[in-house]
Amino acid sequence: MTDRIVIIGAGYAGMMAAAALDREGVPFKLVNRHPYHYFTTLLHEAAGGRGAPADYAVPIQEVVRRSGELVIDEVTGIDRASRTVRTAQQGELPYDWLIITLGWVPEYFGIPGMREHSLVLTNLETARDIRAHIESQLHQYLDDGDARHLRILVGGGGLTGVELMGELLDWLPGVCHTLGISPALLDLQLIEAMPQILPQLSGALRQEAVQVLSDKGATLRTSMKIVKVEAGKLHVEGGEVIEAGTIIWTGGVRANPLLEAAGFTCDRRGRAKVNEYLQSVDDEHVFIGGDAAWAEENGRPLPPTAQAATQMGPVLAHNVLARMLGKPMQPFHYHNRGTLASLGADRGVGDMMGIGVRGAAAALAKEASKVKYLLELGGLRLTARKTKEIVTLA
Ligand code: NAD
Repeated sequence: MTDRIVIIGAGYAGMMAAAALDREGVPFKLVNRHPYHYFTTLLHEAAGGRGAPADYAVPIQEVVRRSGELVIDEVTGIDRASRTVRTAQQGELPYDWLIITLGWVPEYFGIPGMREHSLVLTNLETARDIRAHIESQLHQYLDDGDARHLRILVGGGGLTGVELMGELLDWLPGVCHTLGISPALLDLQLIEAMPQILPQLSGALRQEAVQVLSDKGATLRTSMKIVKVEAGKLHVEGGEVIEAGTIIWTGGVRANPLLEAAGFTCDRRGRAKVNEYLQSVDDEHVFIGGDAAWAEENGRPLPPTAQAATQMGPVLAHNVLARMLGKPMQPFHYHNRGTLASLGADRGVGDMMGIGVRGAAAALAKEASKVKYLLELGGLRLTARKTKEIVTLA
């Protein structure tokens, strides 16, 4: 086989595709900004200080061990006409088959000042930034006694905002005690434009999430749309201005803008349309997975979740090989195993195969899903290594 396969992006879909090709001994290049793959679904834990950021990542070389070559670089463009990927450092990488798994970026919806004046939870660096920023705010409070340093606003009550809030509520009282600040002075607000948080879940589970977060000390403010942000000031519809030392935006995601720039047919969130084989509808030499893909099941677009991305990875690998060898491709079918939201380390809510789970059982189920993913990605060897770290952290 002499065809050149290039995978761009080592998120869940890219890593699962790379692992499958590597197991088969098929040569490929995997281009990624960092030499590690991080667990996007656990970034809130890193931000909230449950563990060190590095504990939420695996070196890519632990998975790409045989036939794959890791290229550490930034992808800056895709030229479909010349079948090349442009990179920042190493120029153009030619491909015969391209797997695009470039993931997502924050969606700011054009809210003035949001990009400039908010923190986001997009990768390990931003998780670390959130943690460091909050710690520095606590120290500033000790210096000047300004209560605004103790106010944290999280904008967007989807899964990211809720899970992050759960972590912050667990982490911060201890930090306050250590610094001699009364935890009662903390003011953590989750601000959501819609009347409810977590629209993915049933009413009873949503109510459970509201109850747990409130009991832990959060203020949930729904039907409150953020319309503008300035340094330390968040403006909501109706005119209220909330001043805070920390403003975090968890209001939504869109696909990596390189897809639109490359001229793919995209949905309103910038995801590129694929057929049932996860092959671009615009280019038969391109396969797209994870949050970058606009894939449909029974005529409905799939949500951009790690669960779907993880399932897509092996199908991407299989179908590229099938095309190379002239064999039939395999259609992608999404198996929705449910949604789990952690509410700190000890609580959670979610539905698994249509059954509601809550409390410690949901938190445990979330832990179990990490182990399952590691098993799928790197087998027992990787699982044993990483689980030890994760269990130590939990
Ligand atoms: P989201 O789009 O699901 O939620 C964003 C929330 O922000 C929405 O509730 C929206 O109403 C609110 N919002 C938007 N604009 C606002 C404004 N101006 N003012 C106030 N609120 C506003 O985004 P997310 O939570 O980052 O999730 C993105 C994707 O990742 C989803 O598909 C989600 O299912 C997935 N995800 C899954 C998990 C998990 O399975 N545990 C965790 C995190 C993310």
